[in-house]
Amino acid sequence: MQFTLCPNRPFTRFTLIFFAVFFLIVSCSEPAQQTENTAASQEASNIQTVSASEPKAETPAPEGTNISDALAASETKVADAATILARKQVPILCYHQIRNWTNRDSKSAKDYIVPEETFRAQLKMLYDSGYQTILPDQLYAYLTTGAPLPPKPIMLTFDDTDLDQFTVAAPTMQQYGFKGVFFIMTVSLGRPRYMTRAQVKELADAGHVIGSHTWDHQNVKKLKGQDWVTQIDKPTEQLKAITGKEIKYFAYPFGLWSPEVIPELKKRGFTAAFQLSTKRDPEEPLFTIRRTIASGYWSPGTLHNTMLERFK
Ligand SMILES: [Zn+2]
Repeated sequence: MQFTLCPNRPFTRFTLIFFAVFFLIVSCSEPAQQTENTAASQEASNIQTVSASEPKAETPAPEGTNISDALAASETKVADAATILARKQVPILCYHQIRNWTNRDSKSAKDYIVPEETFRAQLKMLYDSGYQTILPDQLYAYLTTGAPLPPKPIMLTFDDTDLDQFTVAAPTMQQYGFKGVFFIMTVSLGRPRYMTRAQVKELADAGHVIGSHTWDHQNVKKLKGQDWVTQIDKPTEQLKAITGKEIKYFAYPFGLWSPEVIPELKKRGFTAAFQLSTKRDPEEPLFTIRRTIASGYWSPGTLHNTMLERFK
């Protein structure tokens, strides 16, 4: 209000001019100076704070650290379910077999069987479009603390231990610098057309993540008593022994889950679990992370459109 009197105005009456001059002197000089002084001293104290803190920084900041990284790192508290659900979803693709179709493959099976050339074209599209693969630890940090991700993140996941994931998918991913997540059902290890233990270890050593997909692909909603040991505990132990790494992530066989099974998975040390594309649990979004099956029928363009549509 005081400053509205500062500009010269054509007042006709002497008294008004008198009061205007009086206010001009009182309001535009002293208080303004005080304000400036206050602002200047605040700025000076900010500068002092910054310069005082500089010599204390004994270790250089890690490469690529910026303010948002630092904020994310300091945000140690795990976000609540509503915050996690509000974050933009990262597109997560789920693959099974990667091989050319045969006459024996049914129409519906071809959703789960991606021909080699189709797979290569899908990955090329992702690379050419600027996508970068992320792994579950990065996704977890993003969801729980807001840690930054690459500008166009994507996760590639592979279920059921099929051999072609090792012979076709992994080398194709390597071409583009991509890493993926392999959810293993341990019963099939070493069987014909499935990966061996050594191959699973090779994937883990190459920087891919190994997760659990039960022993023999059971619907976890039906597990009772000892089943939890057979289907969950033992496969986790075995995969840990093979890879030398903690097994923190789980994929529900058939994508089937219920709120009742989530505490069982948490109790057994899992950090997060992946379903297919049904709605996430409002209380447990980390144990109902959505994925979409990348169909063998999809051109790269269809895959891209579907990703944008399904992960918002
Ligand atoms: Zn499966």
